[in-house]
Amino acid sequence: MSGKQSDGASDEIYDVIIVGAGAAGVGVAITLQHVGIEKFVIVDRATVGASFAAWPAETRFITPSFPSNSIGMLDLNSIAIGVSPAYNMRVEHPTGAEYAEHLQSLANYFELPIMENTNVSSIEKDGDIFKVETENGLMQAKYVIWSAGEYQYPSLSGFTGAEHCRHTATVDKYADLEGDDFLIIGGYESGIDAAYHLARNNKQVRVFDMEGPWESNSSDPSVALSTYSFERMRHEKFEQNVKLHANTIITLVNHVNGTYQITTGDGQTFDSKVQPLFAGGFDGSHKFVSHLFNTRDDGFPEVNTNDESTIVPGMYLCGPSVRHDGHIFCFIFKYRQRFAIVAQAIASSLGLPTDDFIEAYKSWGMYLDDLSCCGQECLTC
Ligand SMILES: Cc1cc2nc3c(=O)[nH]c(=O)nc-3n(C[C@H](O)[C@H](O)[C@H](O)COP(=O)(O)OP(=O)(O)OC[C@H]3O[C@@H](n4cnc5c(N)ncnc54)[C@H](O)[C@@H]3O)c2cc1C
Repeated sequence: MSGKQSDGASDEIYDVIIVGAGAAGVGVAITLQHVGIEKFVIVDRATVGASFAAWPAETRFITPSFPSNSIGMLDLNSIAIGVSPAYNMRVEHPTGAEYAEHLQSLANYFELPIMENTNVSSIEKDGDIFKVETENGLMQAKYVIWSAGEYQYPSLSGFTGAEHCRHTATVDKYADLEGDDFLIIGGYESGIDAAYHLARNNKQVRVFDMEGPWESNSSDPSVALSTYSFERMRHEKFEQNVKLHANTIITLVNHVNGTYQITTGDGQTFDSKVQPLFAGGFDGSHKFVSHLFNTRDDGFPEVNTNDESTIVPGMYLCGPSVRHDGHIFCFIFKYRQRFAIVAQAIASSLGLPTDDFIEAYKSWGMYLDDLSCCGQECLTC
């Protein structure tokens, strides 16, 4: 149990309902509190930090935490000004379970109003008010922030037979997986993470990727692998046990007589008795609210400069699905910079002053309103 438990639906019209109590939902809630919005509630289908708690046991943050707040640089894994996971946890690369606990402690510390174990099943706007249907009844708000994340909406598609694979998001612990020969489809962070843990357990692993992030020269961590992953790829067990296949598209997965066979675009086949792992990303929860947003060409919701829907005013998006042109906000240290943009937009429409708030957030790099300085060419800004 985290935060200040809210007791369910009523006739009350909240200023803001936040859907999802992950890093984005808890982070933007603290930001709403800072700007002076009081009548808000977070609704989560499970518990605070549930997605992090569900990570495979061995998986750790790739971004390092460091107690750098004292020199004015916010800890990379922090979701709020003045907070440092490194200082709180004394861990540089927390596990998902550790980070979930961190989020729960923040929810308690800030006394965030939270309704846990409450699935949001639909959202509609009726006049000026959003009607949010939950398992505990109807809730109403002037504004809604969608921050239900991606992890609980894994994607198992992209080629024929994808359903024969197991998504890495469903693995509890790599050490518990049986078998010796693993085929992993997808070679970005999750695929390399899986390969590393399996290789450390002396499993033979092949990783297939249609591009090959380990070969990318990009400095954008949304495209290239993290330093943490490159370091782990130099581990002797990884070098001994993992074969990397770049520029290799998988077109077919078959499961016949207890053997899995994957076929590549150029006709090569690879067999294993072990179910292939799919580390190919997530559909994302935004599909669930697609009727409230225009959809960009890449399938992500279209938002205006305040991360608000371009077709339904008052409907906001926070978290890794936020996209502006080519800018991808998939990491915490990226999307946290947009919490204050959303909070400021809502506070202004509620008539609250925001000048001091903006100044404080800007000074911490937590108010990113100029997107011209983002992306991989950002080496000098
Ligand atoms: C394996 C892995 C490693 C990663 N490592 C890093 C890293 O090192 N650094 C980094 O910055 N980022 C990392 N990321 C990305 C980061 O974890 C995600 O961006 C982050 O979890 C997203 O947070 P979120 O709050 O948007 O979503 P989530 O953490 O998924 O939270 C969403 C919440 O919404 C709730 N919810 C979902 N649907 C509903 C509904 N219909 N009704 C009510 N509630 C609902 C869920 O229960 C959940 O609690 C990693 C991601 C993965 C998968």
